[in-house]
Amino acid sequence: MRIVVLDGYALNPGDLSWDNLREYGECDIYDRSASEDVLARAEGAEVVLTNKVMLSRELIEQLPSLEYIGLLATGYNVVDVAAARDHGIPVTNVPTYGTQSVAQMVFAHLLNLTQHVAYHAQTVLDGRWSASPDFSYWDYPLIELAGCTMGIIGFGRIGRATAHLALAFGMKVLAYDTFEPAEVPSGVELVGLERLFRESDVVSLHVPLTPETDGMVNAERLALMKPMSFLINTSRGPLIDEQALADALNAGRLAGAGLDVLAVEPPDPNNPLMGAQNCTITPHIAWATKSARSRLLNTAVENVGAFLAGSPQNVVN
Ligand code: NAD
Repeated sequence: MRIVVLDGYALNPGDLSWDNLREYGECDIYDRSASEDVLARAEGAEVVLTNKVMLSRELIEQLPSLEYIGLLATGYNVVDVAAARDHGIPVTNVPTYGTQSVAQMVFAHLLNLTQHVAYHAQTVLDGRWSASPDFSYWDYPLIELAGCTMGIIGFGRIGRATAHLALAFGMKVLAYDTFEPAEVPSGVELVGLERLFRESDVVSLHVPLTPETDGMVNAERLALMKPMSFLINTSRGPLIDEQALADALNAGRLAGAGLDVLAVEPPDPNNPLMGAQNCTITPHIAWATKSARSRLLNTAVENVGAFLAGSPQNVVN
């Protein structure tokens, strides 16, 4: 059995182990694979694992030995799953592994926006506190979350985990989802999208990227938001019209944004949100705590084991 991992670095930059995968066969584990290298690397392999490397129909059809494709991720848009199905190749994903980590990241961004911890710590290192005539100073309005309203768009796994943390902070929670959930925790009110944008002090996005959600946070909806409110996006960059958000931030029509994802990743240095007023951007790290990556790797390896044992699990095609 020959197993090829095309782009293992993002999942395991060295702090996790591939040993459990090696038990299933001879493994070639590449950190990254440029598209022109994929065919030569995957040729002759029965099992191919990918995170973000594209496996097109054309490529799949040039790999007659291929029996199984495993995603090292939840999303599987990088694989032509119909082409794989046509060739009897199961494609598997890891449906959930980082719910708590992503919800935690929402608050990492939110707490940074409410108290600007890193910014103020830097002023201390720069000598400003030592030189200050007062025992305390701050450069931004400091905001208490208790009593504020959190609006959650997409009340699935991560949306619910985020609501749980918001309630623990004493926030009121409004939620919007196209599917009416069977059970809504106490303290959470299901509302329409317009009311959510109008009444929330913090709007947090947790819908998947679909044709319906692409660009859903546009100039019109941003204009509904309170001027002192924050927008957090840990879901997918294209949910937001980035130019419209940059314009709103730079005009002070929104108090700040915390973004873990951008429309194009890695981003163009000229992305309008780079340097926009009160906009903090992190490089798509919400999923990447060691605990979450460890769960992801374990499930991806279990998926290979289940396939080899003749009962594939987490098949998406
Ligand atoms: P989930 O499927 O459990 O929840 C998504 C929710 O969105 C569902 O309740 C669904 O009904 C709702 N929804 C779908 N379309 C909608 C629409 N048009 N309007 C309103 N609601 C809609 O997914 P999840 O596990 O909570 O993950 C949410 C998203 O988080 C993922 O799609 C992914 O894009 C993102 N994510 C990001 C990271 C990261 O590292 N930043 C990590 C994991 C997931």
